[in-house]
Amino acid sequence: MILPRSNRLAPDQLEAVTAIVREFGCGIQPIVGAVRTIYAIVGDERDELMINRLEGLDFIERIDRIQSPFKLMDRRSDLATHRITVGGVTLGEALFVIAGQCTIDPKNPNFFYETAAAVKEAGAQALRGGVWKPRTNPYTFQGDARSLDILMEGSRRSGLPVDAEVMDESHVRLALDAGVHILQVGARNALNYSLLRSIGAAVAQRDTVVLLKRSIHMGTLNEFISAAEYVAAFGNPNVILCPRGTAPALDGYRNHPDESITPLLKEKTWAPVVVDPSHSVGRASYVPACALAAVAYGADGLCIEAHVSPSSGIGDDPKQALTPEALSETIAQAGELWGIRAARRRSHAGSKQA
Ligand code: PEP
Ligand code: MN
Repeated sequence: MILPRSNRLAPDQLEAVTAIVREFGCGIQPIVGAVRTIYAIVGDERDELMINRLEGLDFIERIDRIQSPFKLMDRRSDLATHRITVGGVTLGEALFVIAGQCTIDPKNPNFFYETAAAVKEAGAQALRGGVWKPRTNPYTFQGDARSLDILMEGSRRSGLPVDAEVMDESHVRLALDAGVHILQVGARNALNYSLLRSIGAAVAQRDTVVLLKRSIHMGTLNEFISAAEYVAAFGNPNVILCPRGTAPALDGYRNHPDESITPLLKEKTWAPVVVDPSHSVGRASYVPACALAAVAYGADGLCIEAHVSPSSGIGDDPKQALTPEALSETIAQAGELWGIRAARRRSHAGSKQA
């Protein structure tokens, strides 16, 4: 929909606009109002270049797109009925919790094996463990490829599928060859389009799932969904969106918690939403409340950092990992809330039918 700066386009302006959209196979339909006339673009309006050229005209105020730019991730796309299943759990049908260490310590693999057992015992459906770590400071521990074996051993021992972050194509290859079930794209790489493309293509032939974090610097929701569209467009529709806090705007939390965007995402896309409360708030004592808020907002799952002995952990674990007790309690409460939400959905559906 084209909105001119003036109440209507002058004939030469309409001619210029029509000439542009025609180049892209579209036409113009004026919608005449009492005061103002606006102009519908008739045809496929998703071509970015067409929109840019229209927006570049100084007599145009703005273009409102009616069509979604997401061919695959849109709620109304053909993929909308696609369901993602990990380790036997279909997202959306039951609360899906990924839990485990921020970072695997290759010198202390037993901590990870104990954490894996505790995560399973607490009721989580998947195990996380950082192998390669994106660290702000180049002198801090960067992860260690040897941790991949520890991660997979944790998966074998616990029977849980595993999630690990990949930061470049070599990690993607190694993780896929090892059998990692969920490839995590972190907040720092969520805008790395060449990585998103190669992940989409690399996992196209497999059942691998991608957990796409929201970048610290992402603004609009469309920017987030577009990143998911990259992975899907290049071959893998198994994308889970993971809000994890944006650039910090408060003194107290590590990031600005953004679990409240969950219902907004769900209006635009069919993709499941798994919220990471750990990085959102950055401190173990705040994590349970953020996790419950996420479920209240409609999240399909949670990604929570947990460690059998947080103070012995590395990476983020000493400050933000939950103990097994806190994790169990959080998962139990989140499960209850999930049940309340499901009952509410059923009663809404029932009252609509009545
Ligand atoms: C992590 O999951 O440990 C991590 C580094 O996450 P993020 O990319 O959200 O900072
Ligand atoms: Mn972490």
